[in-house]
Amino acid sequence: MIESSGSPNIYTPSSLSELLALYDKLPQALLFNGGTHILRGQGDLSARIAANVINISKVDDLNRIHRTERHIDIGSAVTVSRILDIGANILPRSLHEALVSMLPPAVRNLATLGGNICIRDRQHTIYPVYLLLEIQLELRRLGSARWIPLSRFAGPGSHLDMQRGEVLTRIRIPFSTWDREVYRRIDQELESPNDYLSFCGLARMEKNVINDVRFAFGTAGTVVVRSRELENELIGRHLPLARRETVPVAELLEANLSSHGDGLSAFQRDRIPSILGWFLERLLEE
Ligand SMILES: Cc1cc2nc3c(=O)[nH]c(=O)nc-3n(C[C@H](O)[C@H](O)[C@H](O)COP(=O)(O)OP(=O)(O)OC[C@H]3O[C@@H](n4cnc5c(N)ncnc54)[C@H](O)[C@@H]3O)c2cc1C
Repeated sequence: MIESSGSPNIYTPSSLSELLALYDKLPQALLFNGGTHILRGQGDLSARIAANVINISKVDDLNRIHRTERHIDIGSAVTVSRILDIGANILPRSLHEALVSMLPPAVRNLATLGGNICIRDRQHTIYPVYLLLEIQLELRRLGSARWIPLSRFAGPGSHLDMQRGEVLTRIRIPFSTWDREVYRRIDQELESPNDYLSFCGLARMEKNVINDVRFAFGTAGTVVVRSRELENELIGRHLPLARRETVPVAELLEANLSSHGDGLSAFQRDRIPSILGWFLERLLEE
């Protein structure tokens, strides 16, 4: 898709119908949203250019935010800064924290959630939040529209369930109530800037009993660590766990980490158990 010579044809549609008609005609075109990922690390911008580029950032429908009692719909070209303007009291706490942790702040003025979700080769730090909040995605192409959960959109490896001529148009974030909602990011900047972990954990508690819990770890690649079996093992448990109860938890976690083979670094394998321990302690704090 990327060509290294010649000037690209740049199109800047302003309406969704115009965009879909154009992309139907030029399905090989590069969709350019905030451009932060596309241009990342490119000293010479002209060095990495597609024959046809469709700048979708000015499409009015993709720049809308719509809130109901049950969810918030965010257009795929809305920037992270504008999403943060919605406010920490309205956005799910984990999402707000994940967006604030996107640095430097200037990137947030350009980067969009649409672009973040459509990156193929890596899932970036916010992915565990999307997954646990069970966000839904609207995909449209000329003459059709569909909604799918993020878990089905981003498959194993770098596969995205995106059909020819399809554009991600809206991201639906359901509102749900969690007693505990945390997001944490653990970078290992000095040794290896791409070797990081992000963590999202959600729980419903009654006194010190876990009524419901979800947690997931994101990595710089496409590996996401989540174990439903482990979540189910913890549901109904009284905290703090008795010593004998920690054994099956540790075993299930180890089995899950092993299933990722070489997909996890030594740093990630080492830190995941302690972050889970930290999360379980946090459940007792409030
Ligand atoms: C300095 C820096 C720091 C960063 N820090 C973080 C961080 O902390 N956490 C994190 O998660 N990410 C981080 N990123 C990555 C950033 O999140 C993504 O680059 C950004 O969200 C992508 O959005 P964009 O609008 O710029 O996408 P673009 O670069 O415009 O596009 C990215 C990809 O998505 C495709 N695409 C875009 N929109 C659509 C659409 N609507 N439908 C279909 N395909 C589409 C494009 O064709 C392209 O393949 C950082 C990037 C930079 C440069």
